[in-house]
Amino acid sequence: MIDFHYTRAADIADAVRQISADPSAKFIAGGTNLIDLMKDDVERPARLIDISRLPLRGIEETAGGGLRIGALVANSDLAYHPSIEQRYPLLASAILAGASAQLRNMASTGGNLLQRTRCAYFYDTATPCNKRQPGSGCSAIGGLNRIHAILGASEACIATHPSDMCVALAALDATIHVMGPAGTHAIAFSDFHRLPEGTPQRDTNLERNEIITAVELPSQGFAANYSYLKIRDRLSYAFALVSVAAALEIEGDTIKGARLALGGVAHKPWRDLSAEALLCGQNAEPSTFTRAANAVLRNAKGFEHNAFKIDLARNAVVRALTQAASGTPQSQSSKKIA
Ligand SMILES: Cc1cc2nc3c(=O)[nH]c(=O)nc-3n(C[C@H](O)[C@H](O)[C@H](O)COP(=O)(O)OP(=O)(O)OC[C@H]3O[C@@H](n4cnc5c(N)ncnc54)[C@H](O)[C@@H]3O)c2cc1C
Ligand code: SF4
Repeated sequence: MIDFHYTRAADIADAVRQISADPSAKFIAGGTNLIDLMKDDVERPARLIDISRLPLRGIEETAGGGLRIGALVANSDLAYHPSIEQRYPLLASAILAGASAQLRNMASTGGNLLQRTRCAYFYDTATPCNKRQPGSGCSAIGGLNRIHAILGASEACIATHPSDMCVALAALDATIHVMGPAGTHAIAFSDFHRLPEGTPQRDTNLERNEIITAVELPSQGFAANYSYLKIRDRLSYAFALVSVAAALEIEGDTIKGARLALGGVAHKPWRDLSAEALLCGQNAEPSTFTRAANAVLRNAKGFEHNAFKIDLARNAVVRALTQAASGTPQSQSSKKIA
């Protein structure tokens, strides 16, 4: 473990001032990802700026009928908040599918957005990795790539984004609010995370001296017809091989609105607008769901150990849409642990 300075941010503006003044500094919120990365020598910040006491733990109604979630709201507090359980159960379900109760009590909303890939080579400093050390190569392409991307990968990196929460936020069309030296601005969720292309070292379009202040949900929560389906090697405490957030608005037998996002398949939560368009106006039936699944996976490409994920993802999309249409989402039975 490296030596580092520790400071506390007095307020949001002070947090931005401190991080702007020191290019080697990093914010720390719950610390559940950053501390692991520091112990493994992957991240080497010379200064940690503790933002965990900033007043960013509120969940408030917005004028547009949505919700504004403070960046420091713990994952467990978010999942069990009455407004989230009742109006955005897709989000509650996705969060409760992730990590463990203890981790969710520590993990923050902002930190979850910025958690880094679980590619084993990224954590192993003895191996080349373009994300950790740009230009060094990608060990996963010719190595063990069972958990890696099947969509949107590049010759530089085939890592996946590991978050469950973010897959639901992609489907719900959330907005990220940030503050930097030039003031505040908003980033559409689809523009927040990046595909690897030639710069896999950059996971998101957040600038290093900006702080996430909130995540905003629009009013539509798809509470009647949704499903978060997570397929993984163990039933709990494992990252997704493939996950699907499906949300439908149904009148009679007809789909009036559809959202579809996948996790565990790409460098960012993978939302496919063309597949959503294929669902709209159609009967909620297996042939419709299969057409949408084929559309999502049309450009999928497997590597030596992960080609199975293409069929897995196709089947998971059909199953999640079927569950969403029938109003029987995969249930998460985790109880809150204080
Ligand atoms: C064993 C284990 C299993 C897990 N399983 C899952 C799982 O199945 N699914 C899943 O989705 N997640 C899983 N996680 C990941 C967990 O959800 C994340 O570690 C957590 O959400 C990160 O939040 P944090 O507040 O602890 O972030 P931190 O570790 O404090 O920070 C992470 C990064 O975000 C930055 N940061 C934090 N807050 C802000 C902010 N407001 N503005 C700007 N930058 C910020 C930090 O500088 C750092 O770079 C697992 C983690 C562990 C350790
Ligand atoms: S997939 Fe990405 S994170 Fe993994 S070794 Fe290759 S460059 Fe590094």
